[in-house]
Amino acid sequence: MALRLTPLLKAVAHRISIPISTRWLRPSRLLETAAVRELRARQISDPVERLRYLRQSSPALESVYSLELTLTGARRYMTACGLLFFLLTPSPIPSSTRDVTAHERRLVGATSESYPKVWAVEQTPEYESYSNGLRIETSLRVSNRARKPFPIYITGQPASFASAPAGIVFHTTETHLAPFEAEENTQLKRLARNVIDAVRKNQSYHYLIDRFGRVFRVVEEGDVAFHAGWSIWADAQGAYVNLNESFLGVAFEAQTEGGLDKIQPAQIHAARVLTEMLRSRYRIPEANCVTHAQVSVNEKTFRIGYHTDWAGNFPFREIGLPDNYMLPVASMAEFGFEYDTVFVKVMGNRLWPGVGAAEARLREHSTANGVAASRWKSILQQRFRNIANQIVSSPSPVQTANAVQGDTNVRSQ
Ligand SMILES: [Zn+2]
Repeated sequence: MALRLTPLLKAVAHRISIPISTRWLRPSRLLETAAVRELRARQISDPVERLRYLRQSSPALESVYSLELTLTGARRYMTACGLLFFLLTPSPIPSSTRDVTAHERRLVGATSESYPKVWAVEQTPEYESYSNGLRIETSLRVSNRARKPFPIYITGQPASFASAPAGIVFHTTETHLAPFEAEENTQLKRLARNVIDAVRKNQSYHYLIDRFGRVFRVVEEGDVAFHAGWSIWADAQGAYVNLNESFLGVAFEAQTEGGLDKIQPAQIHAARVLTEMLRSRYRIPEANCVTHAQVSVNEKTFRIGYHTDWAGNFPFREIGLPDNYMLPVASMAEFGFEYDTVFVKVMGNRLWPGVGAAEARLREHSTANGVAASRWKSILQQRFRNIANQIVSSPSPVQTANAVQGDTNVRSQ
């Protein structure tokens, strides 16, 4: 991020410590200089509090922040440095939806996120090992079509392109599971091998974590895996549609239904170190590590949750991630998708918080744009239709998920 800070100011910022308290929010704050605001903001560790302080202390920002800064959720940590860019750069008040959205994205995009440091230790024809203890079995890997540059959409238009994986989608295989007992060892290994063979045949996922916590690379990271079909997520850069192209697929040999839904501790550990490595390698934000149920859609009916694996109980915390079920469902907030009674039933009448967060955001944006929520939803849906039409007519139309055994498509939409 290019900062318009002088070296002197940067030096001062590192040397001066100014205690932060609520008194910084008194009316005289308007007299504060941008530099002082930046110094104070830096000392507020909580990003939401920091944002609140900057909103209240900066007349320039108040107009921009007339919309709640929630395009990608409160966990989008923004740095005072990034915000200072705007403090020092007068910004016109957004005059249209596109402007508003662009402003929000630029502001939210001023993020600061730390990434794990993981490096390769050893590589053989059979396996790779990494500095965090991760071991990847590589002898069974297969190739698929190479990943192409994929569009990232803002207000329904490709705003940029990227080619490195932007996120991770977690799946379950929903395959038959034997009791996890020592006397079942032969059977457990046989079932794992069957799953791997099916994943290889269908190029379903980049990684499979079997019940012993062994990590198998199946589809090469640089290739597309057919794991997500029609799917949507969004971050500070914009919206991703068709995550086969843009996100890596990681599957647990597991079932989310039927009583054997508890994955093994070894699988959780494996997922944790694998996620660390992938986040380190591609600088994947925490908030782009999500479950298939969170991203899957029926593109024809505008319903979320076409696939429902990990619709709940994904162990985000245990694998070192924040609870991303809190994040607004991107398909709803960005493109006006909805849920139906079937989905609610599948969820056991308990929707994850991100559904409500997406609805709230949609209402906020409809109000900010001066239209009814229903009208706003129609506008968003039309944006998605345009994108879908472009994808369908492209050389690489969406291939639906090549799941091992249906990958929890428990619905018939
Ligand atoms: Zn799935």
